[in-house]
Amino acid sequence: MTVPVSLIGISKAFGSFKALDVVDLDVKAGEFVTLLGPSGSGKSSLLMAIAGFLQPDAGEIRIGDKDIVGIPANQRNIGVVFQSYALFPHMSVRENVAFPLRVRGVSRAEMAKRSERALQMVQLAGLDDRRISELSGGQRQRVALARAIVFEPSIMLLDEPLSALDKNLREQMQIELRDLHKALGLTMIYVTHDQREALTLSDRIAVVNGGKIVQVGTPISIYTRPTSAFVAEFLGEAILLPIDYAKNIVPQSMRPAGSVSQLMLRAEDLRIGSAPQGAAALCGIVRQCVFQGDSWLLEVNLPNSLSPMRVRAQQADGEAMSRLTNGDSIDLFVNHDRMHFL
Ligand code: ADP
Ligand code: MG
Repeated sequence: MTVPVSLIGISKAFGSFKALDVVDLDVKAGEFVTLLGPSGSGKSSLLMAIAGFLQPDAGEIRIGDKDIVGIPANQRNIGVVFQSYALFPHMSVRENVAFPLRVRGVSRAEMAKRSERALQMVQLAGLDDRRISELSGGQRQRVALARAIVFEPSIMLLDEPLSALDKNLREQMQIELRDLHKALGLTMIYVTHDQREALTLSDRIAVVNGGKIVQVGTPISIYTRPTSAFVAEFLGEAILLPIDYAKNIVPQSMRPAGSVSQLMLRAEDLRIGSAPQGAAALCGIVRQCVFQGDSWLLEVNLPNSLSPMRVRAQQADGEAMSRLTNGDSIDLFVNHDRMHFL
């Protein structure tokens, strides 16, 4: 059974420090929502409050239609996976995975059947008798996942579960987590400080900063239409230009009517060359031009002592890039539909 989760006005202070500052969030049944934010922003505290390991000072946590704030952690039917796997090193894989069932008094036969199924789901079938110390990091994290799903929780909470793995394995596990979410249909709340991981995994992302949720939305909406400079810069490479400068390059009809103070461009949306119809032209002086494999990083000085702009030039522009030297003047353009105002 899959259930929705609602957080209503959750606050938590440590002394005078507000770790969680009136947090509201609605997660739909079966949804994958990621809490994304810098270290110390309050992500783990929020997850621990939902799990029942941290008592909030104020607020309600609703699972289905029940407020669970007073209910002990072990009665919340929530599967939890941490960054440190917290496995029992002296037990075998099978014993680790079966542990939550043993605590719940499930019969031996049922325990064997369900553990087997959980291990299959995380692609560890056949490793039942291995000791934890004989497993790789990725395999250990799979055991932790199997242990969290074996008792068929209605919600799963994951706190930076992949951050100890190297990049390739982490990306592979992200795809596996997506598959697992699809297969189980569980409500999942996932914590990470890695924006690409959040974009890859989530139905929706809640961006956390300073104990508050500052924006919630789909990966595409958060990335393309951030509502603050913080979100713009935390998700990807943003170019923020003051509105006075934007007025010179963007026709009035393209600017929003309300009060805005900045034009945001994504570093990868700028192209080299003179602007075609429907695009804004920018020109500047090349400060740096660095080849980075999949793209080129270009730093461009703009007029009027604006801070240098970092452009992510694509391979398609590679030939033009390789001919650039510091001090060259350069014409760039960006399509009007890639512009966003804050
Ligand atoms: P995140 O997971 O986003 O890195 P945390 O939720 O772990 O952030 O922590 C948020 C803030 O609350 C941090 O500044 C942290 O130092 C503080 N904090 C967390 N737990 C405690 C605690 N038990 N006592 C005091 N301060 C804490
Ligand atoms: Mg944390």
